[in-house]
Amino acid sequence: QAKANAKAKAANEEMSTESQDLEFANKVVLITGSSSGLGAQMAKEYARRGAQVVITGRNTERVCEVAEACDGLSPNGLIALQVVGDVTNDEDVRRLVGVTVDNYGQIDVLVNNAGAGSFATLDSPGLLDQLEHMFKLDVRSVVLLTQLALPHLEKTKGAIVNVSSVCGLKSYAGCSAYCMAKTSIDMFTKCISLELGPKGIRVNAVNPTAVRTGFQNNSGAGDVFNGMVNHLESTVPLGKLPEPSDVANAVLFLSSPRSAFITGHSLPVDCGSLNA
Ligand code: NDP
Repeated sequence: QAKANAKAKAANEEMSTESQDLEFANKVVLITGSSSGLGAQMAKEYARRGAQVVITGRNTERVCEVAEACDGLSPNGLIALQVVGDVTNDEDVRRLVGVTVDNYGQIDVLVNNAGAGSFATLDSPGLLDQLEHMFKLDVRSVVLLTQLALPHLEKTKGAIVNVSSVCGLKSYAGCSAYCMAKTSIDMFTKCISLELGPKGIRVNAVNPTAVRTGFQNNSGAGDVFNGMVNHLESTVPLGKLPEPSDVANAVLFLSSPRSAFITGHSLPVDCGSLNA
């Protein structure tokens, strides 16, 4: 009997690993900003679990590199779709959804991840321009893409994960434009979860603390941001900052049936920093 129990336990464990391994089989997952950083890592994790991933960003070479890495990880031999485009260009956003649906006929998961940061204090002459840019890139594009993906997500009873930031939940001096943009994403998430819940679509956000990616240098204030990252690293309660895969884990969780009863929430991946 003991032997039979052990065998059944092993079979169960194998099954649950297998089902987790292929958790996203037959799912079409569109991740914006998947040409580098957090989005690239998410794409690889989805591909590894059987998803058909759509890789997109402005940089053709990086889109291609990440797509090829996903192809190599796909257990079911899927080839990632590559779409080069700028999410601040409405035509590009329409094309992104159009090409995805033309190729696969469905969208199951939308991860609104593309974005950049900014640093400008109230007395900086560039603050208004940065504010405009932040809202165009980090907010408006998310709203448009969500609108366009909606009919497809409704058919699949899909899930949306918006990549916000701890900056959506906490104030940081010099980061008002970025913080306001990310707070908007958290509020957008909550509001539309009420509209989309009855359609069977869940919407959540993740709010990472600093993660070392291209983000710091791409935000036009590399020195300031890198200094903030070093400071955070020495002060977060967990004593170390997340890796891109730690953020990807939270995103995958929020888009999987494991979170079937969670919607309208912002999940910090903050190493305890928000309570410190
Ligand atoms: P990266 O700079 O490494 O990646 C940003 C991604 O967004 C790239 O794939 C880039 O692609 C894409 N992107 C930027 N602008 C555009 C655009 N106009 N059109 C299309 N794609 C665009 O940063 P992260 O991976 O770190 O950031 C991803 C998300 O995580 C962002 O929303 C950011 O705000 C958020 N975040 C990041 C944190 C961090 O410390 N890293 C902390 C908290 C949140 P390409 O260059 O090819 O266009």
